[in-house]
Order: sequence, then structure tokens, then C-alpha cells
Amino acid sequence: MTVLSWRTPAGLTALGWVALLGAVPACAAAPSAAACAEWVRRLPNVKADVCAHADLQATAGRSVLGRPLFMRDVVAPDANVRVLVVGAMHGDELSSTSLALHWIQRAVEVPANAHWRFIPALNPDGLMMRPAKRVNANGVDLNRNFPTPHWERDAKRYWEKRTRKDPRRWPGPKPLSEPESRFLHDEMARFQPDLIVSIHAPYGVLDFDGPGTPPPKLGRLYLDRVGIFPGSLGHYGGVHKGMPVVTIELPSALRTPLDAEMRQMWLDLLRWMGEHLPAPVAKPSPLVAPPTVAPSPALPDAPRSRSHPLG
Ligand SMILES: [Zn+2]
Repeated sequence: MTVLSWRTPAGLTALGWVALLGAVPACAAAPSAAACAEWVRRLPNVKADVCAHADLQATAGRSVLGRPLFMRDVVAPDANVRVLVVGAMHGDELSSTSLALHWIQRAVEVPANAHWRFIPALNPDGLMMRPAKRVNANGVDLNRNFPTPHWERDAKRYWEKRTRKDPRRWPGPKPLSEPESRFLHDEMARFQPDLIVSIHAPYGVLDFDGPGTPPPKLGRLYLDRVGIFPGSLGHYGGVHKGMPVVTIELPSALRTPLDAEMRQMWLDLLRWMGEHLPAPVAKPSPLVAPPTVAPSPALPDAPRSRSHPLG
């Protein structure tokens, strides 16, 4: 029998303790069944069979409150690209986990040329809190906790000046301070994805960070690049590590897109992947100087025309 390891976070909030005492699944023998029972009650448009067929595997990763972090691999016979799909980095974006679970079924049916790795809920504590919370149980915005260059200089300043200390966007005390962001960071290093698809809500657009050509649209979502933030996955993965990151912003955090829309988004993603992945290998030329990387700005520009940054 597996025994969940518990750790007592110094910054555990009152809400965190409520969740700790009341909501963590007790069934350690079948963690995916216990998680599905919780998720089906919480997620929009996810029936029990969709979660069961997702066949989630518990990893060694744990949330702050000790919930297992689940993963599912779907591997095409002729896989030549690796794609990492991440949902619910923000726990109150419920539709993102729903989409990831539905897409696991699509991948089983049409895996194309990819080794898919799905992490449907990176922030299960936030997802299961009542009400659901964007931040994790330590109050940290996981999408500001990745080790982007000059994080120590920029992240807190950005939070104070650009978000006016919005508690939903606290970047944490240091980069990778949280077990959930460490898990994803380590998974990126292990899996070496050619593409990361990070699912969010509710801005109804696509964003893209990193090398290569972005997808112009997925279903009804159109590309609208909005710049980078200290500590975000797009900044860390796409800009710093050179792993393209497609950020999907679903139009609603509480409603899942219709089945036909989810299918169209999937088909558009596969078409774009077929045209652009694997990325052509750049051949270094002795006659051409290597591109220089611009220094990180002291304080990145605020995103255009939005009261809140995406992601
Ligand atoms: Zn988000």
C-alpha cells in the first residue's frame, strides 16, 4: 500500500488547512480512481467514463497538500515528436482540465506522429478548493514561479508594480519554491518536449512563446501574442529553454467547449504540428554570427489592452 508523504508547508493558508483536513482523497490504493471521483464532481462536462478512460497514472510528484500529480502517456507507433500538455496550472480554470481529459481520448484515437504526455491538473489543490483557487495551497501563482532569467530582480517588482500586489498573482518567495512547479520543471528536463501546450482560461485567445511559427488558430481561438512575464512557463520554456509553448486561453473557465469545438482544436493542432514539428535543425554557418539574446528588460511591458496578464 502506498502511503502519501505529507509535508507541512510553512505558508499554508487557512483555506489550505480546510482542504487538507476535508478534501484530500483517502483512497491511496487507487489514487486515480479517487482523483476521478473528485474531479467528476468538480469539472464541467467530464463524465465518469471520460476520466476513467483517461487511465491516469500517479507520478512521484505531489501537491503541497499531498495530492498525487497525475500523468498519461499516449505514444504513436511512429512517434517522432514529444508533446507535453498541461492543464489547471491555475486551479480555478476548471475547463482546462476538462479539455486535457477529452484530448487524451483524441490522442488514443489519433495520436498522429507524437508521444503525448498529459498532465491534466498541475494544481489539484487549487482545483479542489471551495471555491477553486488560481494559486496553489501556499498562495503561489505557479505560472510566475519558473526560473526565468533575473527572476529575483523582476518577479516581485512586477507583482508589486504591474499587478498592485494581486494575491492571485504572487510569484512565490523564490523560483521553483513550489512542488507543483518543480514537478513540471523536472518533467520538462526528463521528457524534453518539442512542444508544450499549456491550457488556461478565460481570455479566448492563443498565445505562443519560443522558436518557430505559431499556429494561427485552434478552432475558434486566434493567435494574439501578448509578451512575457517574469516566471511564466511561456517565458521559461519558450524563450529561455527554446521549447515552443502554445498557450491556449479557453473562453470560459467554467464551461468546457462543445465536443465539436474540442475536436476542431485538436485537428488544427495536429495540422500545425504536421507542418512545423519536428522543427528543422538549424545548421550553424561559420559565415553568419550567432543570434544574440537580448538582455531581459528591467520590467517587461504590460500586456496590450488587458487589465490582467494572460496565463
Ligand atoms: Zn491561467
